[in-house]
Amino acid sequence: MIYRDEREQCPRCSTELIDARAARGCSTCGGLWIGVGDVQEMVQQMQTPQRPMELTFEIDQRTALACPSCKDPMRTLNLYGVPIDSCVKHGIWFDAKEFATVLWMSAKRTA
Ligand SMILES: [Zn+2]
Ligand SMILES: [Zn+2]
Repeated sequence: MIYRDEREQCPRCSTELIDARAARGCSTCGGLWIGVGDVQEMVQQMQTPQRPMELTFEIDQRTALACPSCKDPMRTLNLYGVPIDSCVKHGIWFDAKEFATVLWMSAKRTA
């Protein structure tokens, strides 16, 4: 039997995640847990002018973190040069400051 806690926990430090606007965040290490669709939307909003953007992931070889939702090992990927962890079903985990870096890099790359 698989036990699933209703509250999602930080894959880094096991702190309970708190709501942070469109995302959920860890108040201890500053990590962010965001749905892929929301990430894509925010990346698109960074483009001037705004335009549709495909998220370009590259495979990265690191130790996998567990998904905060389903506890499956997440895929370790690279998004705009930033190492991130992604669960196909639930979203993308960004360590502190990584999300801001992804947004910044995505805008820079297409400028
Ligand atoms: Zn944390
Ligand atoms: Zn998951």
